[in-house]
Amino acid sequence: MQQSIKTSEALFAQAQIMIPGGVNSPVRAFRSVGGTPRFFAKAQGAYGWDADGNRYVDYICSWGPAIVGHAHPEVIAAVQKAAADGLSFGAPTAAEVEIAEWIRSHLPSMEMMRLTSSGTEATMSAIRVARGYTGRSKIIKFEGCYHGHVDSLLVKAGSGLLTFGNPTSAGVPKSFAEETLVLDYNDIEGIQACFAEHGPQIAGVIVEPIAGNMNLVKPREGFLEALRAACDAHGAVLIFDEVMTGFRVGPQGVQGLSGIRPDLTTLGKVIGGGMPMGAFGGRKDIMQCVAPLGPVYQAGTLSGNPVAVAAGLATLRLISAPGFFDQLTAMTAQLMQDLQSIAHESGEENFCADSVGGMFGIYFSKSPPVTFEDVNQSNRDQFNRFFHAMLKRGVYLAPSAFEAGFLSIAHAGEPIAQTLQAARESFKEIIGAR
Ligand SMILES: *Cc1c(COP(=O)(O)O)cnc(C)c1O
Repeated sequence: MQQSIKTSEALFAQAQIMIPGGVNSPVRAFRSVGGTPRFFAKAQGAYGWDADGNRYVDYICSWGPAIVGHAHPEVIAAVQKAAADGLSFGAPTAAEVEIAEWIRSHLPSMEMMRLTSSGTEATMSAIRVARGYTGRSKIIKFEGCYHGHVDSLLVKAGSGLLTFGNPTSAGVPKSFAEETLVLDYNDIEGIQACFAEHGPQIAGVIVEPIAGNMNLVKPREGFLEALRAACDAHGAVLIFDEVMTGFRVGPQGVQGLSGIRPDLTTLGKVIGGGMPMGAFGGRKDIMQCVAPLGPVYQAGTLSGNPVAVAAGLATLRLISAPGFFDQLTAMTAQLMQDLQSIAHESGEENFCADSVGGMFGIYFSKSPPVTFEDVNQSNRDQFNRFFHAMLKRGVYLAPSAFEAGFLSIAHAGEPIAQTLQAARESFKEIIGAR
């Protein structure tokens, strides 16, 4: 089933002359797994086609947004209708009010909100609001959580306990990184110790309440509760970054699943239905700090873009269908269970899988990770072999052991059957090769 990828190879060679790494977002470059990235030509339902005409069952789903399947006819119709009425006005529209109402009815913690054009803008703005509201400057983040390419969040832990962060990217001044405290995900004592030492300076805590940017890592019992309690005790703002998990793990995000109410929430990915969109919002008294009501400046020429809002609203309507999340959750869990059985039957004991809603993690380790270090310890070489074995059989997984995977409702039936067959052959191949 080895495909020809001549066009992708040629495009990649040409792209690398003009675009750093040949891609407009780094993970697309396949650096972690090696090989040639596939240039996509189109996608429909659960499938994507590359520029050479090879078909793949797509488990990236645009990193989450394609939850109803690619190019769903109702989403496309909504986009076409909105586009025909004008692409952008720089003035408010009725659809923005409608999507804000829809979001608030599902995530009641978002009493007021602003729309943005990306998840990064949402997290950047939420942090500014937390700082403006509290008059403090320090932010806590967790190792392995990703919140977009915001300067003060491209930071990793320094050496030693409770040190200030070091930049993970060139171009981020050390002085910015020093405003960020980096703790281990799921380390409850770490939170308490950090607040005990720095409480009066901490503006807020930003967390992926279920982490999806170091593969899928769930919060341990009591972790989110400890964050809520520490923020309450010290007057800090708790920010749930639900850019990935919002309308992906369930209709009310992780806040619905956990019952923990954040002060601010950031959204993106699914709420744009495949178009560029994000949102941040939360407690009214905090969001009233945002201009023009308050002193925190935030703006966007294309924020609330009518075409993006139309795609988002159409997607949100589709996932509101009765039983949508029950079906997606059950399908995803069953696929993970089947992959794990196939791995073990093939003799790959060092494999496990987990999921929440339509988001999943596959791990070349004995048990699901709890920290970033656990993910680091998994067998990444074996993951890379598995990735390529699946890819050549027409199954497109995320090209890194540090990424989560995504299903759409359109994966039911044939796409999943093809995936399981590919997995049987792939595990055999990678075991044989070891
Ligand atoms: C994708 C993501 C972001 C960044 O969103 P962009 O739209 O890529 O800027 C922020 N936070 C989380 C949790 C994400 O998964």
